[in-house]
Amino acid sequence: MIKTLLVTATVVFGLIGGLGIVIERTSQIQEHAFEAAAKPTAAPSGADALPAYDTVEEAAVHDAERLYKCSRAYECAGVIAQRPDGKFVVGPVRSSYSGDSVEYSLTVPMGWKLAAAVHTHPCNAQSHANPYFSPQDINGYLTYKVLGIMVNLCDGKVHEFDWTRDPPNNESPPEMEGTWMTQGRIVGQITVDGVSQEPNQGM
Ligand SMILES: [Zn+2]
Repeated sequence: MIKTLLVTATVVFGLIGGLGIVIERTSQIQEHAFEAAAKPTAAPSGADALPAYDTVEEAAVHDAERLYKCSRAYECAGVIAQRPDGKFVVGPVRSSYSGDSVEYSLTVPMGWKLAAAVHTHPCNAQSHANPYFSPQDINGYLTYKVLGIMVNLCDGKVHEFDWTRDPPNNESPPEMEGTWMTQGRIVGQITVDGVSQEPNQGM
């Protein structure tokens, strides 16, 4: 509706301007009409109405807070999309009700770019090397060429893995000798209670 209004006003202004000084008065009136149309007062709707952030890391911390509210026992996930104006927006929260996996779509609105895939590692301290991206995590980022963000719900740290520059397997967790993984880089922090949850063991 707003876009239609804008286009109509532009056409009217263009025609009047073409007729020049003879109808200067009318032209001024139309100019004001154009200005009013160019500053819509109606609130944006749908995806355009979501909070937007200047950096992907800011959006990641906001997403981490939402995913922590989704569940402390099950993995939750979502995407961050970049709007055509460069701002970053957090997508819907998903869970597969599993403590060590989650399925989610990498779809973003048409014309927007996929900026990051985000998921949690619930604090399953007895069965998981929580601060490490799993080999499956890394495979997914390399396959889809997407920035990876993981939130460790034991300490609230927000980890980032950039497939274009971060090594995928530079560390071996002491409790998993012979397995090489990475923690990526810490890019943010949220507040968590750090209580260990073990949904798969029923404890
Ligand atoms: Zn993971």
